[in-house]
Amino acid sequence: MNSFSPNMLKTFEACPKKYYFKYIQKISVPQKSSMFEKGKKVHALANYYLRGDDLTKMEKTLDSEEKLIWEQLKQNEFFQKSCVNSEYNLSCKIGNYWIGGRLDALMKDEISYYILDYKTGSVPKNAEYDYQTMVYLLCTAKLLQNQTRKQVQSDECNIKFVYIDLKNNHNLIIDFTPEKEKKYEEKIIEICNKITNVRFQEEIEHSQICEFCEYRKICI
Ligand code: SF4
Repeated sequence: MNSFSPNMLKTFEACPKKYYFKYIQKISVPQKSSMFEKGKKVHALANYYLRGDDLTKMEKTLDSEEKLIWEQLKQNEFFQKSCVNSEYNLSCKIGNYWIGGRLDALMKDEISYYILDYKTGSVPKNAEYDYQTMVYLLCTAKLLQNQTRKQVQSDECNIKFVYIDLKNNHNLIIDFTPEKEKKYEEKIIEICNKITNVRFQEEIEHSQICEFCEYRKICI
């Protein structure tokens, strides 16, 4: 049985050949990025913080920019809600496919559940239909439906996806509705079908995205 993460779906959509290198051949190419390191640090801090650990020593290792980002996250209204779980592995079955991944955090208040995603880089352009948004919302909806042990409609669950854009100190909030649930399921099944039935080609037309691809050296 195949299982797909949001990154796998995004990679395939961007370039099937890249998917082939990364997930079939399992060739990993290290990426140099200070933003990536910053993101990792903030994610680790957030996880310890939500677990209630003492962060005094860790906070001392932050540079001024990291400190600013971290303070912004601590002050964020969604980050201050009640934590259900952080660094939370979730999966669910859509059609014949298992999808899943690791949420930064799941929070709640009296009204809603909130899936949080901390972004130190850029927020997805079409966030509403980004695979991360779709996969995490569907998995959380299924989890909550199972927990209540009855068939609950997604609007009764009242779930929102919140991208916390730490670069611009802004929240991008995406509502989950029964219409969206249906559309998300269709989109997920469509791309999973494509991945399952694809025939990877040796020869491929190169495009602009190749310029920034980490597999460029072995592909072109
Ligand atoms: S170099 Fe271009 S064609 Fe090759 S894997 Fe990367 S994006 Fe795909």
